[in-house]
Parts: sequence; C-alpha cells; structure tokens
Amino acid sequence: RISKIKYEQQEEGLKREKEAIILKKKQTEETAKMRQEFLSAMSHEIRTPLNAVTSIISMLKERADEDDQKLLISLQFSSKNLMRIINDILDFSKLDSDKMKLEMYAVNFVELINNIRDTYLGMALEKGIELNVHIDNKLNKFYQLDDTKLFQILGNLVSNAIKYTNDGAVDIDIKLISSKNDTDKVSFRVKDTGVGIAKKEQSRLFDSFYIPSTITTRNNGGTGLGLAIVKKIVELYGSSVTLKSEKGKGSIFRFDLVIEKAAEVIKVDQKRTD
Ligand code: ADP
Repeated sequence: RISKIKYEQQEEGLKREKEAIILKKKQTEETAKMRQEFLSAMSHEIRTPLNAVTSIISMLKERADEDDQKLLISLQFSSKNLMRIINDILDFSKLDSDKMKLEMYAVNFVELINNIRDTYLGMALEKGIELNVHIDNKLNKFYQLDDTKLFQILGNLVSNAIKYTNDGAVDIDIKLISSKNDTDKVSFRVKDTGVGIAKKEQSRLFDSFYIPSTITTRNNGGTGLGLAIVKKIVELYGSSVTLKSEKGKGSIFRFDLVIEKAAEVIKVDQKRTD
C-alpha cells in the first residue's frame, strides 16, 4: 500500500514536471515572437523618419555653402550609419525568426556587381584603398537571383574589408567554376590586405552580436550582426562561407553559389519599387 502511494506521488510529480516544461516552452516561444514583432515594428517606425532625414540632407547639401556642406556630409554619414544599424536589426529579427526567404528576380549579374562596386568605391577612395573587381566575362548574363540579398552579402563583406583595411587593396573576384544546363556554379571571393583576424576569434565571428574586443574593431561602431546575416543568406542558397585570415596580413572570405540562368529581360528595374 505504501509503495502504491509512493508510486502515485512519483507519477503526479512527473506529470507536474512535464506540464511545467510545456508551459516554459510555450512562454519562450511567445517571448521570442513578441521580441521579433517588437524589433520589426520599431525598425520600421525608425526607418520612415530616418529616410525623410537623409533625403532632406541631400537636398540641403545641394544649396549649402562649403562650410555647411562639410557639416551636412558628416550628418549624412551619421544617418547612413544609423540606417545601416536599423537595417541590420531588422534583418536580424527576420533571420532570428526564420522568416527570411529568397525572392528571385531575373537580374543581369555584371550590372549587379557594378552597382556594388559603385556603392563602395567612395568609401574605399576616402581611405586611399583600391577597390578592384575581377569578374568572369562569361557571367555577363541574366540569372534568377535575390539581388537584394546578394547585394547585402557582398556589401557587408566589402564594407567590412574596407573598414578593417588601412592600406592596400580590397579585391572582389567572381569566377564561373562550373556550368550545367540550367545552373551555373559561381565562386565569390572578397580579399583584403587589412588588420586580419586572430585564429581564436575566427570561429565566433559569424555569431550574432560577436565583436572581437580589439581597439580597431571596437572603434568602428558595428553591431556584430553583418557576418551573421551573411552566413544566414549564404545558407539560404544552400552553401556556406569560409574564412582565411592572418593577423596583420589580411582576410579572405569565400563562398560558392549555384545560380539559375534566366531568360534575358529587357528592363530589369520594372520588378519592384521597395
Ligand atoms: P560589424 O562589422 O557590424 O561589427 P560583422 O558581423 O560584420 O559586424 O563583423 C564582426 C567583426 O568581425 C567585426 O567587428 C570585426 O572585428 C571582424 N571583421 C569582419 N570583417 C573583417 C575583415 N575583413 N577584417 C578584419 N576583421 C573583420
């Protein structure tokens, strides 16, 4: 009889433990959902007025005298930086909740890469660094690509490469490594002659919010989300990023993507307005 009571007590205890675990799991999921919704809503709320601020700065810059122009350039730099941080947070909240998906459009590949080069050329020139793009001529055609996300991957890698390089060059190499009927396998490499990354930091670099505690990187005001976003998007393409780096010598980030060929389209920019 005593053992029966003990057994029943044990059963009751186990049942309660199970219920507590289920409740905890539910609460964790709800908290994660609320956090994601909050981040997403906040980022949108901040982005709208910030867009207005940046476009007003651009307008003012055109009619300002030389002294005011310098102030406005500095203001523009700060607001662009703020926008980048907001975008990182927004992307991160999406990838955290597995909401990030690829959206494919027919895109001229070389045009996309030229856009990336044009966007970051000024940043490189300001630091007196060369930004070289070597792209296989065979890639001058249309592909089914999520161009916004490919821009994000390369943009993050290239802007990091420029940020963490004080002299020398940043090289973007894009090669066709194999071709099948409907797809091409393309290799991307972003190489810099910058500060490099210590061996012990390399494996954690792709973790969200991870920033090595060196003076150089702490001073750059990043979020530590850029590479986590890069990793996630490359994974969406079914691939992975590799890093080779030596402290003081520079870094090489590499990834391969299998991309689908697209029929040539006349006007690429008709696709969307965002
Ligand atoms: P963020 O640049 O916003 O801090 P990232 O995730 O893009 O975040 O990068 C994380 C860290 O990795 C950076 O703070 C920097 O220390 C290091 N890092 C990234 N790219 C490079 C690079 N090309 N050379 C040296 N360090 C780099």
